[in-house]
Amino acid sequence: MREIILASMGEMTLKGLNRKSFEAALLKTLRHRTSDLGQWSLRSAQSVVYIEPQDAAAEAAIETAFERCRQVFGLVALSRAAECPKNFDAISLLAAEYLAPQLRAAATFKVKAKRADKAFPMDSLAIGAELGGVLLEKFPHLQVDVHHPQLEVMVEIREHAAYIHGGKQKAAGGLPIPTSGRAALLLSGGIDSPVAGWLMGKRGLSQVAIHFASPPYTSARAAAKVEALARQLAGWLGPLPYHHVPYTDTQVYMRDSLSRQDYFTVLMRRSMLRIAAIIARREHCAALVTGESLAQVASQTLQALACTDGAQDLPVLRPCIGMDKTEITDLARHIGTYETSIQPYEDCCTIFTPPHPRTKPRLQDVLRLEETMPELERLEAEAAATAEFKLLMPK
Ligand code: ATP
Ligand code: MG
Repeated sequence: MREIILASMGEMTLKGLNRKSFEAALLKTLRHRTSDLGQWSLRSAQSVVYIEPQDAAAEAAIETAFERCRQVFGLVALSRAAECPKNFDAISLLAAEYLAPQLRAAATFKVKAKRADKAFPMDSLAIGAELGGVLLEKFPHLQVDVHHPQLEVMVEIREHAAYIHGGKQKAAGGLPIPTSGRAALLLSGGIDSPVAGWLMGKRGLSQVAIHFASPPYTSARAAAKVEALARQLAGWLGPLPYHHVPYTDTQVYMRDSLSRQDYFTVLMRRSMLRIAAIIARREHCAALVTGESLAQVASQTLQALACTDGAQDLPVLRPCIGMDKTEITDLARHIGTYETSIQPYEDCCTIFTPPHPRTKPRLQDVLRLEETMPELERLEAEAAATAEFKLLMPK
């Protein structure tokens, strides 16, 4: 028996004339994710991708390949399936054998058939009824439940073969990376920014991560934690270019020269975005991504966001803007970053914060204050120029 991974493409199938380039991006990502797991054959037909092991190493790694494919944007559902000749007797023998453990464990089941190859002599209703009968005979403890079965036995009659599986699992959804272009993600060690990166990845956006650190005010442990988060994100986004920006000099200069401490936070946010924009341009990115959420903290009020947006020219994408903290947290759990994010850490955004940051900063005050810091531009350029680069691979 040969086992393969059957995957369904999602929204990208609606792309009309562009569909080919979306499929090519998806297949390229899938090829890359399976490249160290033996030999695989990948092809797409209609809205299905066939991911087929070609050697013993690949066969042995099918579970790992399956888990990795679940993290590939562009696929909506996946199943591990047994391949079978298109002949009803062969199908019923193999279904009883391949799904025996699940058939034994379930109390109720139903058979659902899909006949993509209309040349197959039985229609889907007939396949369902006949196969249901065969399985009831072989597993007499079972009962049919067409509404809420514990096990759904699926038979798909496709172009080259028939496929049998025990139901589909939900996959990542969205659009394949990098069909929406490339942006720079401002990645902190918190809960929100990894979720922001994931949400934009889901829309097909390729990303590079930028992290600001201010040693010795922020520790090596805090930096290591952000790298761990970036590696977890790389499981979804693919190998992640990572820029570690030394921010201490800029930040200390701002702290020491600023006459209005209540403006410190918004001025620092502007400074971070300017540095990020320099790196983003160098990296051919067309936008910035942050984890900001409206009114979550003083720097995320409408007035503060307006001041931040004015700092540089690239569009700032904020996919968490309308989400509650609980919604963001649920997503962080789903994508696997939550446990790392809640480890205690210091972030350069939280050091030197004034006791009462201004919640309604005014742009004219911001601009006036920046004029009192003549060294700022040079320090920002230096921070961008001395950022350390790494390519982070998925764990
Ligand atoms: P998060 O949970 O993502 O840290 P937050 O609610 O703590 O977000 P802030 O600290 O105000 O919010 O940061 C807002 C956004 O600014 C973050 O979501 C992130 O995109 C970016 N950011 C904050 N600190 C850093 C940092 N040290 N390096 C890079 N980006 C940062
Ligand atoms: Mg933060």
